Amino acid sequence: MPDRDASVREDGRVYPRFRAVLDGFPAYRPGRTPVSAGGKSHKLSSNECPYGPLPSVVEVITEAARSVNRYPDNGAEALIEAIAQRFGVPVDHVAVGCGSVGVAQQLFEAVGEPGAEVLYAWRSFEAYPALADLAAAESVRVALTDETHDLTAMADAITPRTRMIFICNPNNPTGTVVHAAELAGFLDRVPPDCLVVLDEAYREYIRDAAVPDGIEVYRDRPNVAVLRTFSKAYGLAGLRVGFLVGHPAVAAAARSTMLPFSVNRLAQAAAIASLAAEDELMQRVELTVKERTRVREELVATGWAVPPTEANFVWLRLGERTMEFAAACEEAGIAVRPFAGEGARVSIGDPEANDAFLRLARAWR
Ligand SMILES: *Cc1c(COP(=O)(O)O)cnc(C)c1O
Repeated sequence: MPDRDASVREDGRVYPRFRAVLDGFPAYRPGRTPVSAGGKSHKLSSNECPYGPLPSVVEVITEAARSVNRYPDNGAEALIEAIAQRFGVPVDHVAVGCGSVGVAQQLFEAVGEPGAEVLYAWRSFEAYPALADLAAAESVRVALTDETHDLTAMADAITPRTRMIFICNPNNPTGTVVHAAELAGFLDRVPPDCLVVLDEAYREYIRDAAVPDGIEVYRDRPNVAVLRTFSKAYGLAGLRVGFLVGHPAVAAAARSTMLPFSVNRLAQAAAIASLAAEDELMQRVELTVKERTRVREELVATGWAVPPTEANFVWLRLGERTMEFAAACEEAGIAVRPFAGEGARVSIGDPEANDAFLRLARAWR
């Protein structure tokens, strides 16, 4: 008999018993966009594309809406074909999911079991710890060095139990990158039965030529897979679709753990339409890249230390003053993403939003 007293809560009542791992999960706080005294608000907290969907994509979504009485194609055949075409890979090297977080969860489910270790840098993408916990895998975190992945320390942290390693490139929330040569040296040290996932959610924003393209890296490395998403540069965060490119055994594992039908009809249609409209979308990305340079240079000129960023956000290591800074941003109608005691991540928005943020950042210093 389990100890029944354990589920008595503070109010003296007994509630259904859940996995202990959930007790460590932060309570859900709905994100809200603050409004300044002047009535303006800017959401710079989720690294979204600041521009609405292209008319051509809206049209396709509208058309797809007419058939939502039907289930989506669970195999996402047309979308997978379009992705395979676009990236020059075979269709059996592609798996899709409900956002790339969905695909990541599919991978965690595929490797997670008691005793399995999953290795990642910290701080990195917030989703990794929760996905590891849910999959009953043990998180092994390796501290960043100079705000960047420390690949030597990460290779040293591999044990016989390491089943999966995440490399977020560029890293969320710091925006920093690992280069081709150091990544190759690291991959050479990873045992072939351990999966390395290159999380490239911000790939389209990279302008540093020394950063490897995961889709080139994975080709002759069967234990390397790449995660990409339609949420950021392609501007479809609200529709939830992402994908993996990897060798057939890896793609098959990711498919086998997918929640059925979790990539919906509208998402599949919109993703296909977005690939077709890529030139237009990449012009927007170029605008964001220009704004990123402007924002970082102005911050640095004002005395802020901002690591070089290849993503659509900047990282401010504010330490103990992080929450105070976030509150000042909120006061000014700007939502940023604070990590208490560490720093704040601020997305690059449209020029008006960036101007508002820069005004605040100048004044705050
Ligand atoms: C935003 C982001 C994603 C994308 O998540 P989706 O589920 O595709 O919206 C994945 N990885 C990282 C590191 C991110 O920052």
